[in-house]
Amino acid sequence: MLNILFAARPARWPDYEEPLRTALSNAGIEADLATDITPGEVDYIVYAPNSWLQDFAPYTRCKAVLSLWAGVEGIVGNTTLTLPLARMVDHGLTQGMVEWVVGHTLRHHLGMDLHIHGQDGIWRDYAPPLARDRKVSVLGLGALGAACAEALRGLGFDVTGWSRSPKDVPGIRCLHGEEGLKEALTGAEGLVLLLPATPATDNVINAERLALVAPGAFVINPGRGPLIDDAALLGALDTGQIGHATLDVFRQEPLPKDHLYWAHPNVTVTPHIASETRPVTASEVIVENIRRGEAGEPFLHLVDRAQGY
Ligand code: NAP
Repeated sequence: MLNILFAARPARWPDYEEPLRTALSNAGIEADLATDITPGEVDYIVYAPNSWLQDFAPYTRCKAVLSLWAGVEGIVGNTTLTLPLARMVDHGLTQGMVEWVVGHTLRHHLGMDLHIHGQDGIWRDYAPPLARDRKVSVLGLGALGAACAEALRGLGFDVTGWSRSPKDVPGIRCLHGEEGLKEALTGAEGLVLLLPATPATDNVINAERLALVAPGAFVINPGRGPLIDDAALLGALDTGQIGHATLDVFRQEPLPKDHLYWAHPNVTVTPHIASETRPVTASEVIVENIRRGEAGEPFLHLVDRAQGY
């Protein structure tokens, strides 16, 4: 009998208890799943980085920490955590992100705001180009970025992707490294940020790089707030170099009431809702990793501590 500790905010327990129990039963794993277990008796921790659990030292028998979140910047630097740490890759989460990114990309591509907010009797005969004539760059080609890039490509967009290591995603022009970033940004009419927050990605979108995109380009950030130099983005919005920014994530969350982003006419703020882990599909991923741990197979989606994601 395994002891599995659920260490996320208590409000999440009702969402996850049943799906986790079902997934464990479907996998034939007998386990005591609970929110309170003596630390020395815990075999696996199902974890959210905003959990009450921050000191992993007493969990001497634990074999892995299985995160419910894709972004692990809040836990990766915890020096008491030396156990294997897996991040969340969940096809429900991925599908949600694809829908959010496609929706906001189409809003900007089609110029929907012009008509939604322009019902003033003026016949504006602006017709958007076809998606195939629109260059969109997706920074980050991981579980989420690659799926979004492929979905945009499926609609016909001219999609370039950028990652740390070389990638091969069908239909996407895949670039990497510093030169690759320059190329991905130059002339892009839309930017989608799906990079993790690490020391290497901090302020990756700065004034110099914003100057490379096509004038009036849109920026969509469902990745993490620190990817953007906020002052540089606000400056580029004021000059029109950036036409609109749709931002889901921020350096400080909730975004403070007096932040300039709230009031800017060309910024859309969404409250970190681009996509969330879905309990049913995520529970299957968590349980597959527990099954692997028990079978002596390698864990899926392990975090690379040195890279920070
Ligand atoms: P992932 O699979 O780890 O992919 C990360 C991608 O970023 C990879 O392609 C990686 O390159 C690239 N990358 C990392 N550091 C880089 C660097 N220094 N230079 C260039 N490329 C770099 O992560 P994911 O599951 O797609 O998730 C991405 C992020 O989305 C998460 O970290 C989280 O912050 C965010 N997120 C937000 C929400 C929301 O609701 N807003 C929900 C879920 C996730 P390699 O391929 O070479 O490794």
